[in-house]
Amino acid sequence: SDHALSYPAAPDQLDWSAHYPAFAGTGKTPEFADVGCGFGGLLIALAPLFPDKLMLGMEIRVQVTQYVRDRIIALRATSATENSSPDTPRPYQNVSVVRANSMKFTPNYFLKASLSALFFLFPDPHFKARKHKARIISPTLLAEYAYVLRPGGIVYTITDVRDLHEWMKSHLEAFPLFEPVSEEDLRTEGKGPIVDAVYSSTEEGKKVERNKGDKWLACFRRIEVPRI
Ligand code: SAM
Repeated sequence: SDHALSYPAAPDQLDWSAHYPAFAGTGKTPEFADVGCGFGGLLIALAPLFPDKLMLGMEIRVQVTQYVRDRIIALRATSATENSSPDTPRPYQNVSVVRANSMKFTPNYFLKASLSALFFLFPDPHFKARKHKARIISPTLLAEYAYVLRPGGIVYTITDVRDLHEWMKSHLEAFPLFEPVSEEDLRTEGKGPIVDAVYSSTEEGKKVERNKGDKWLACFRRIEVPRI
């Protein structure tokens, strides 16, 4: 349960230099957050593409979080020896993970308007109606996601469960601080590599591919002025 976890009281009390030692003293904070990151495939795919942006995975399962942590440590170590020139930024320094229940503690980790991308990739479907409150997208939680996202920031959702897709989409559409953005528009804006990673870099996404399942993408932009 959450009692066993320690959480930062507020994001300004977090010392990110322990997570991103190579960025210590830069004042940088995470800009991409992967909610329910699982085994970390998205973060690992995006880290080398955006070496100057800090990325954080949030994962509730202890062992899975530890796995991602070990994976990052190993990637940092091997790429440091392969690429030892002091002038080139060392890869994977910009990626980290926390064990956290994101449904309760997202605003403890991220400052207002600090994120430019928030990812919900293949979240747990919680099929039964009485379990819907356990879904990671809900009106209350959307207010928190809108708070931590900066205007212009993007929420990426993808799932193989059609019902969950409709659910996430309809809640996001109904929320006045988000507007839908098409895959085509994202690609035109240069976010194609992100969209590609959303589709196929994660462990769950690969599993869906192996099983020849469908993937439903829905993306939204955090807008500055509420829609009326
Ligand atoms: N996004 C990953 C992927 O695409 O491979 C993992 C998908 S998996 C179906 C859903 C993940 O969300 C699991 O690893 C689960 O432990 C995590 N999760 C569920 N509820 C969570 C919560 N409240 N906070 C953080 N992580 C959560």
